[in-house]
Amino acid sequence: MSFEIIPVRAFQDNYIWTIRNRKCAAVVDPGDARPVLDYLAQERLRLVAILNTHHHADHVGGNAELLRRRDVPVYGPHDERIAEVTHRLRAGDRLRLPQFTLEFEVLEIPGHTRTHIAFYAPRVLFCGDTLFACGCGRLFEGTPREMVTSLAKLAALPEDTRVYCGHEYTLSNIRFAKAVDGGNPALLALEHEAQELRSRDLPTVPSTIAREKATNPFLRCLEPVVVAAASGYAGKNLEDPVDVFAALREWKNRS
Ligand code: ZN
Ligand code: FE
Repeated sequence: MSFEIIPVRAFQDNYIWTIRNRKCAAVVDPGDARPVLDYLAQERLRLVAILNTHHHADHVGGNAELLRRRDVPVYGPHDERIAEVTHRLRAGDRLRLPQFTLEFEVLEIPGHTRTHIAFYAPRVLFCGDTLFACGCGRLFEGTPREMVTSLAKLAALPEDTRVYCGHEYTLSNIRFAKAVDGGNPALLALEHEAQELRSRDLPTVPSTIAREKATNPFLRCLEPVVVAAASGYAGKNLEDPVDVFAALREWKNRS
């Protein structure tokens, strides 16, 4: 394989995903420069690119410091709030990282923020704070309909796509998912596996699209058991999957 993807931890629960080979590295969403610089120094890697999925400080806060050390291209969305971006990308744009023989396609996935993007290459998805293992991002700047559309784009990717999300939120997401879909055997199996990994302080991610479709209530808004649980929370019969999603999101925000 021409690259590996390594999680560098930052803050409480962020992952700065680092694409690396023996000599160089690209980082996705460096919210903090320090742990990235430490990792690069320890592994003797040369930084070659920065990728940003959205403008939140816990994803871009380290850009400037990394650029002070080394001038590299910064790929991100059309959003002036990320001053350091040198290559602003839209849906369908392609981004080549020849060092790793990787070519990403850019997906626009608004909802968490207005300009959130994802980077997709065969079997690899960097999706920032849109899709989490067993959960999804809060709607800071988008509507439920936008988020449902964005999540559907991700769910339509091949099932073996590994999902590299921005945070370790899996156990708390599972707790909520069990309130919605507690009889789901795939969810209970995931809980077991995630508890085991966390007890050894290991990441529960990357997930896969297959696992998310089997366990993530926010991708399961058409499942009768999820519709029933969301309807119970809303106190009325919900039929439109967007309404089901909106009820789940509000329920999760309050739980
Ligand atoms: Zn965010
Ligand atoms: Fe975040």
